[in-house]
Amino acid sequence: MPETKMHICPLKTYLRLICWFLPVCLILTTELSAKLLKPGGSYRRTIIVSGDYDYAPYTFLDKNGEPQGLDIDLIKRIATKRGLTVKFDLCQWNEAIDRLKTGKADVLLGILYTEGRNRFFDFTIPHHTAYYAIFVRTDSAIKNLEDLYGRDLITLRNDASIERFLKPLGLMDRVTHTDSLPLALEMLNSGKHDFVLAPYTIGMETMRKLQQEHLSNAASRLKVVGPPLIPSLYRFAVKKGDNELLRHLNEGIDELKSSGEMAGIIQKWVPNRRQTLDYGNILQIAALVLLPVMLLIVILLLWSWTLKKEVRKKSIKLQMAIKEAERANLAKSRFLAKMSHEIRTPLNTILGFSRILLNDSRGLSLPREFLQFLENIRISGERLSSLIGKILDISRIEAGKLEVSIGDVNLIQLARGIYQTHKPGTVEKGIIFDFGFDKDLPPAIRSDCAKIEQILTNLVDNAIKFTPVGKAVWLKVKREAHMAVLQVEDEGIGIPEGCIDSIFTPFDQVDSALSSDFEGTGLGLAIVKELVELLQGSIAVESELGKGTRMTVKIPLIESQASSNRKSERGWEMLTFAPDNKVLVIEDSLRSQDFTRALFKRFGLEIEVTGLGLTGIERALASNPDLVLLDIHLPDMTGLEVTRRIRSHPGGSQIPIVAISADALNLKQKAALDAGASHFLSKPIHLESLLPILTRYLRQQGEEANKGSHRNGIKSSVHP
Ligand code: ATP
Ligand code: MG
Repeated sequence: MPETKMHICPLKTYLRLICWFLPVCLILTTELSAKLLKPGGSYRRTIIVSGDYDYAPYTFLDKNGEPQGLDIDLIKRIATKRGLTVKFDLCQWNEAIDRLKTGKADVLLGILYTEGRNRFFDFTIPHHTAYYAIFVRTDSAIKNLEDLYGRDLITLRNDASIERFLKPLGLMDRVTHTDSLPLALEMLNSGKHDFVLAPYTIGMETMRKLQQEHLSNAASRLKVVGPPLIPSLYRFAVKKGDNELLRHLNEGIDELKSSGEMAGIIQKWVPNRRQTLDYGNILQIAALVLLPVMLLIVILLLWSWTLKKEVRKKSIKLQMAIKEAERANLAKSRFLAKMSHEIRTPLNTILGFSRILLNDSRGLSLPREFLQFLENIRISGERLSSLIGKILDISRIEAGKLEVSIGDVNLIQLARGIYQTHKPGTVEKGIIFDFGFDKDLPPAIRSDCAKIEQILTNLVDNAIKFTPVGKAVWLKVKREAHMAVLQVEDEGIGIPEGCIDSIFTPFDQVDSALSSDFEGTGLGLAIVKELVELLQGSIAVESELGKGTRMTVKIPLIESQASSNRKSERGWEMLTFAPDNKVLVIEDSLRSQDFTRALFKRFGLEIEVTGLGLTGIERALASNPDLVLLDIHLPDMTGLEVTRRIRSHPGGSQIPIVAISADALNLKQKAALDAGASHFLSKPIHLESLLPILTRYLRQQGEEANKGSHRNGIKSSVHP
């Protein structure tokens, strides 16, 4: 029994030991294998690494036969990290590929993916990108891709570019294969073949090396043309199905990328990369640029929206202000029209009567003083009339209502008239005043007579005003090519140089001791400037302080075809009309009635006068007068209404009606002409304006009666 026991016991012990040992072994084996295969853990294996021996900067053998290059450094780092032992075996590229295919090598460096290679190898993720480039000789006619057709190519045997680029583009017709790129470039440099297609980095590195080693002057005879081609992602390759090694290599590449070591190694071997379109970079740059731009746009949009809102608010305010200003301006215009009417009507009477009295008193032996008083009344009246005229002109200019009324203008006659008008004043003041004109000036030009007269009057007034006793003033009318030149020159006080520009500004006068004694509002030249511009002309000032001033106005000289009206040139003193002329005056102001009566009496005419519009219409239609002078402002109806009613009657359509108003605003004038008036005159009536109308419609003493011959004349307006 004890023996039996003795036998059984060791068996049980063994069984027990086995029961304990097996699980321990299992655990140990599992742990060991897990440790060996754990991702990121070491993978103890010796691998044979092959690659091109002459593919700098990726793989090459240095002078001592040691493998060098970007891919060599990468695989060494990965091997260290993953616990691999590496043995290098670099050879010709073609052979290197064979070695991996036949299992003589485990890893192939510096390889690009192609469909063909994928049948035999598995590829790692890419670790570096390069672009192919076209290398040619410096004297080559190849400039771009399209120039490659029909040219001789040298390429590396089994190069990825053959499958990916050269074959698909049909560039393999004239090809020579070599075993290394430096050889291909050397051949090209020596004048053989036409181009080499190689990764830019490799090509440049090869050229640099060749030049350094003085093997050839390749670098100086070769160049790169065309754009970067075939983006090439460099990888490692393992034999098809070697998944374990592939995984370790991929993880190794990943680790190097994320630790930043990869960038360092690439920078070491490829410091100068060709500028290419790196889409990642572009996106980064675009994001960097676009983000602030977008932000700016958003800010600008917000800003412009706020601005728009602000502008809208302001423009509403502005519109309201404009409306207010327009209302104020209208009120001012109304006020001016009203005032001018109120002032001009009595002024008309004062001026008219003083002229008549002065004229009548010539033959009488009245006291000198009496005549002087009359003259003073006339001068003051004229000054007042001129002031009102200027204020009205300026307000018309400001309202943009100044219009040109083109007609025939006899410049010489006009200037002579101004000369004659001003001559007595200059004699009285004791200054010399002369008038001259070019003989080749045409008898008449097409322009605005009233405006030229106004321009010249203002300039002559100034010249006389600012010229001291004993000195001279000249008025000249000349011709200069296609321009008529109106010149007023004086030996007066002159204008300081710095003031010349400002004298054309309304109410601006030279503020000097010399000119402070002179009367004036400072409106004359401002009006002149506007009038000259309206006539498409120009004005120039030359002046020297203490010596004198020359004002030169140039206006277009457009010759008139019509002959000038001779009758109007005759002095009015000589004029007498046939007593059977019928003139009807419709005017409510008793003074104006008296003045008109006296005026027509001078011409040998009795006139028919009525103060009411209605009576005026009846008489006009009953007597069919040769001329009707019609005041626009009547107590029972407006002159416009009177005109319309006369015109609406068959017998009244041809009667010459002269509308007269103290409101010289163009608006009134237009309204009168629109209502059917033949002419428009503004008060105070000047003989120069009235005479052409009288001579046109009324028969002069001794003239044959041909009534009606002028009645369908042109409408016109005459300004004082
Ligand atoms: P108004 O013409 O309205 O009666 P005014 O003659 O003073 O007044 P402007 O004709 O506009 O106004 O002239 C403006 C200023 O230019 C004058 O006040 C004067 O200082 C200067 N000026 C104009 N013409 C002459 C001139 N011929 N010689 C010297 N100064 C002149
Ligand atoms: Mg003046």
